[in-house]
Amino acid sequence: TSFADLQLAMPIQRALTEEGYTTPTPIQAGAIPYLLQGRDLLGLAQTGTGKTAAFALPALHRLLTHPRPLTPKSARVLVLAPTRELAAQIDDSFKSYARHMKLRHAVIFGGVGQGRQVEAMRRGVDVLTAAPGRLLDLIGQGHIDLHDLEVLVLDEADRMLDMGFVRDIKRIVALLPKNRQTVLFSATMPKAIEELAHSLLHDPAKVEV
Ligand code: AMP
Repeated sequence: TSFADLQLAMPIQRALTEEGYTTPTPIQAGAIPYLLQGRDLLGLAQTGTGKTAAFALPALHRLLTHPRPLTPKSARVLVLAPTRELAAQIDDSFKSYARHMKLRHAVIFGGVGQGRQVEAMRRGVDVLTAAPGRLLDLIGQGHIDLHDLEVLVLDEADRMLDMGFVRDIKRIVALLPKNRQTVLFSATMPKAIEELAHSLLHDPAKVEV
């Protein structure tokens, strides 16, 4: 498989060429076609396999091919990540892959003031990357409203469970529309992840690398 075979929109293909990506990694070649079809997906992949692009590129493709005006305080794509470092990295990756498109994006995590995060969400964003705790705080305060969400990604789901985020994740998911695409990536597949996947994903494709 080449990136050209994946038929991603031109602005994305140009960014990949500039990044020096020539060939999709196995997780990308496996996952991207399903995600472009709109399927839910369970991905078993470690860090370093290219999993970020595996979920980010199809999400960007969807934004390009289904443009929609933003709703205040809303997000079209939500990526949940266990730590602020990972959330910031994911946000950077989206920015890089979206360099030839107009993307509104925000990243939200605890341990810093919330003023700038609230301001970033005021007019709504295409892509929100967030750690679960601070996201719930801002939703609770009425600064974020996810009832319009189209795509939910849980990245490093096993680490989020290890860090005790399962209740936060379930509270967040309860606020999302049922009619959405859901993607779950995990490095390991313990029973608790299987159960979470079963409760969140609808007829998921499974890709393992
Ligand atoms: P990740 O597993 O998402 O953290 O990605 C690991 C590293 O691989 C990052 O530095 C990416 O920029 C890089 N990468 C991802 N996909 C590709 C690709 N298809 N070709 C070359 N490098 C890639």
